Amino acid sequence: MARVKGYPEALEKKLRDQRYYREDSNPEFLPKVKGISRTIAHMCYQCGTCTGSCPSAPRSTYRIRHFMRRAVLGLENEALTDPDLWLCTTCYSCTDRCPRDIAPTDVIMAMRNLAFKRDIVPVNFLKTVQAIYSSGHGVPNNDVNRAARERLGLTRDPPTTHMYPEYVKGIQKILDHYKLKANADRIVKEREG
Ligand code: SF4
Ligand code: SF4
Repeated sequence: MARVKGYPEALEKKLRDQRYYREDSNPEFLPKVKGISRTIAHMCYQCGTCTGSCPSAPRSTYRIRHFMRRAVLGLENEALTDPDLWLCTTCYSCTDRCPRDIAPTDVIMAMRNLAFKRDIVPVNFLKTVQAIYSSGHGVPNNDVNRAARERLGLTRDPPTTHMYPEYVKGIQKILDHYKLKANADRIVKEREG
């Protein structure tokens, strides 16, 4: 494929035509995705409105429409092992605009659930779980932010678990209930030793 000016090589590779064969398809994938997401993913007719609405698309190789296609075709491994699965910001623009009333955001969330069951999760997401467990925040406050907040006339810490750390225990209880922290610790240890 000829180089398109301004396109990174990785994006060119993604945009190349790919062929799939019957054995690449898992017929149980679409029902699983629909069961978790509770949305009518099979109704996708590949119009691309979702990708055109997606704030992540212009900044990355992530294309929500490709994931919708993989859901419909049963391309489970293709979908769950693609690191772009984790680039959705869950802004729900695609869901607001889909002409078929599908919720592509929820399809992505369902695929992430299925990926996590197979331990396919980027380490930075797992470290976010660990940060939430210890502080109640995915991105805890720091001294730079505290100084900025002071300059704006705000309290140094926001009225969250930073100001009321006694509520961190409640968050830990939820994460423990779903074994999220234990699994995050295990996978990070396996990857980083
Ligand atoms: S906007 Fe809806 S119908 Fe169009 S490609 Fe996206 S999910 Fe499919
Ligand atoms: S919810 Fe995700 S896939 Fe949909 S527009 Fe926002 S970032 Fe893109």
